[in-house]
Amino acid sequence: MRREALAAPGEAGAGENASKCRNRPLVASEIVALVVQKYGGTSVGDPERIKAVADHIARTRRAGDDVVVTVSAMGKSTDDLIRLAQEVSHTPNVREMDMLLTAGERISMALVSMAVNDLGVPAVSFTGSQAGIVTDTQHGRARIVEVKGDRIREAVADGKVAIVAGFQGVSTAKEIVTLGRGASDLTALALAHVLGADACEIYTDVEGVYTADPRIVPNARKLARVSLDEMLEMAATGGRVLMLRSVEFARKYGVRIHVRSSFTWAPGTWVEEASEMESMEQAIISGVTHDTSEAKVTIEQVPDQPGVAGKLFRALADAGCNVDMIVQNVSTEGHTDISFTLPKDDLSSAHEVMQRVLGAVGAKQYRSDLDVGRVSLIGAGMKSHPGVAATMFETLAREGINIEMISTSTIRISCVVAEADVERAVQALHDEFKLGQV
Ligand code: ASP
Ligand code: MG
Repeated sequence: MRREALAAPGEAGAGENASKCRNRPLVASEIVALVVQKYGGTSVGDPERIKAVADHIARTRRAGDDVVVTVSAMGKSTDDLIRLAQEVSHTPNVREMDMLLTAGERISMALVSMAVNDLGVPAVSFTGSQAGIVTDTQHGRARIVEVKGDRIREAVADGKVAIVAGFQGVSTAKEIVTLGRGASDLTALALAHVLGADACEIYTDVEGVYTADPRIVPNARKLARVSLDEMLEMAATGGRVLMLRSVEFARKYGVRIHVRSSFTWAPGTWVEEASEMESMEQAIISGVTHDTSEAKVTIEQVPDQPGVAGKLFRALADAGCNVDMIVQNVSTEGHTDISFTLPKDDLSSAHEVMQRVLGAVGAKQYRSDLDVGRVSLIGAGMKSHPGVAATMFETLAREGINIEMISTSTIRISCVVAEADVERAVQALHDEFKLGQV
């Protein structure tokens, strides 16, 4: 039944939540679980890995579940293809770039399909276009507008495993496009949603979502569950396990995600709506994240008048600068300082904007600082527990770490500190909030 009742809204579009149709009472003959499994680049990095993945797919299928698979390109092959393009062209044409990069996922989908077929389980691969993943026309970062999925449904109804190339689609102008770096997650979640899958399993090289980056905090703990809201904050503040846009998509449509390892196959972390989690389990703090990919810009002596911030940030937005935290100081003598963070990659565009608009808005000068990092505490429980921010600031103070900027949401507190202090801050906070203990 799940395969019939499938309207397919896109990333941006509103629409009925197709995955909710699993709530309709089922008759016994209809109860077949459908699982979407996504395998990242390291999971399919070489022939041995591909055979191990094929074996897991075949076992899942033999256990009676319907299986739809999404794959990333093998290992670092997307990076290799980008390098290749740069060797033949200074400014590779965006259309041809997408043609090139989509080839990476095409290779892995065909190889995985061959390996699954060899195990006696029928499988068939599809490009994003064949799977009916329709997008807007922005090459390199297209957004999904619709997932048709007819051929996927037919393949599954025929008893086959459908293997879909991640990270790609076909635009409304019939061009082949990519969805942005890391977007195979998004392909998998979009398929899980429109196919009404019971869960979307994201297989990667880590065992799940941790209380902190285990490379920095040796006693970081794997979380059994985390809410989609918390995951969104984690992905936005440096948690590298899931792509931010894919978490936004999952949250919007309530897709349950199971993040797990294709190296150990151990149960990983369930990412799902908070209402599905027992409130007993809700910790005050779920994790500490960090991010050193952003820079800080401070504009000095901005006239304290209506319209100035609007002009500045409009110009930055028009230049494609992805501004993140913004802090405006208390004004003295009709002037104020404004600081903001943005990805280091966007800094050169920001420089151009500053040179153009600073005089126009009457600001004095600006500085940029690359040696900053952001440390964030995330936890749904902080909504109802006063004192979390105070404890965070006291902990950083005890370590002699100066806080340069602060921002909060209802379930997150972030501090910008010197980049050299980031690891120590993460360790101290992880200890202070006892995140290593169950
Ligand atoms: N292969 C693409 C990338 O490296 C998509 C993905 O891995 O999700 O960005
Ligand atoms: Mg990847």
